[in-house]
Amino acid sequence: MTQNMKNARRRIQIITLGGTIAMRNHQGGLSPALGGDALLDFLKEIDFPFQIDKVEFSNVASANITFSDLIRLAQHITSLNRDDYVGVVVTQGTDTIEETAFALELLAQSTINIAVTGAMRSASHRSADGPANIISALRFLADSDGTGEVVVVLDDTVHSARYVRKTHTTKLSAFSSGEFGLRGRIHEERLKAYNKAPTPLEKLSVSGDISGANVLLLPICFDQEAPLLEHIVKIGPAGLVLESLGAGHVPQTLLPILEKAARKIPVVLCSRTNQGPICEHTYGYPGGEMDLLARGLISGGWLPGIKARMLLKLLLMNSPVDSKTRFSAYVRNFF
Ligand code: ASP
Repeated sequence: MTQNMKNARRRIQIITLGGTIAMRNHQGGLSPALGGDALLDFLKEIDFPFQIDKVEFSNVASANITFSDLIRLAQHITSLNRDDYVGVVVTQGTDTIEETAFALELLAQSTINIAVTGAMRSASHRSADGPANIISALRFLADSDGTGEVVVVLDDTVHSARYVRKTHTTKLSAFSSGEFGLRGRIHEERLKAYNKAPTPLEKLSVSGDISGANVLLLPICFDQEAPLLEHIVKIGPAGLVLESLGAGHVPQTLLPILEKAARKIPVVLCSRTNQGPICEHTYGYPGGEMDLLARGLISGGWLPGIKARMLLKLLLMNSPVDSKTRFSAYVRNFF
């Protein structure tokens, strides 16, 4: 994009959803407090060369954001005029930010960039990080081309939505892109890009109907009890994502039920290590990844379990047809 084209678009919208960034101490515990106006009041004092619109979407802990909220949010962003907007900042709780940002990457049908941010410290904290994170998110948008990229910005670091993970409960630097590396860093008020924006993923249109798309994420543990898994499969989920052992392994006692389930529904193999890809042709023992893939389970590739569950759920909401093949195509393009 040329500088002239960029200058023609002079608006950024900040959409507030809630989270710690908007929480205050109340009767000894943090709870949602600041609405959009109060949260963003500090921006009055900052000279920023864009018009900032505020939209208060909700004010909840991120554990209480739902799929219907997420779809409404994506539709709202899609409806914004791309000739006016440089980008959108979404503020929300950090607990589910890695899932919602990835979902926006799949759902928002727009070339407007989206920077999702939050805070590790509440608005009551003497050194709250919320305002700094919002400013960094604005700076990312000011310095990046509109390709429909979705990033998570916290602690001056910029992460591609599809790679970012929350890896600590309370540290300011709680987010990591692992081996993929940072998308960039906000340095001296500008974006220093370390990596290019990843190739956009194919967008998914979904209706708000989530009834046929129950997907359970299940970590597999040492000597996991097969009867428990049998009960879960009987309940009739539309899909199952396993955070399996190591590079894609399970105890062999689970094989009959997993094979049975994989005949009916997509059963995705991810790793509970949450780092590195599932192997395909390394371990040949019963319950090893070669055995599981041969029994009809599908590889989650590099996707951590929570992102595989998000992708599978949105794919099933889009259409139950060919969900295994379509899931595998996304996995190939993920990295
Ligand atoms: N601890 C969370 C946060 O960082 C709470 C939430 O996700 O809403 O915002």
